Amino acid sequence: MAKVVYKACRKCRYLTEIKTEKCPNCGSTEFTKLWRGYIIVIDPGNSQVAEKIDAKIPGAYAIKMAR
Ligand SMILES: [Zn+2]
Repeated sequence: MAKVVYKACRKCRYLTEIKTEKCPNCGSTEFTKLWRGYIIVIDPGNSQVAEKIDAKIPGAYAIKMAR
C-alpha cells in the first residue's frame, strides 16, 4: 500500500489527504505540507480542545505549522 501523506489547512490546521482540494472543516483551499505533530478531535461539540482550535468536524489537526 502506498504511504499516505497529509497536508494541513493553513487556516484551521485540519489534516487532510494531499489530493483534497478544499478543507472539509473551514472551506479553505490553502494548505501546507510543512507541519509537525497532531491532535485527534473525536467529538468537536463536546471538547474544550476542539473549541480552542476551532475544530468543527472530527479529525486530526496539526499542532505546529510552518508559515
Ligand atoms: Zn481548514
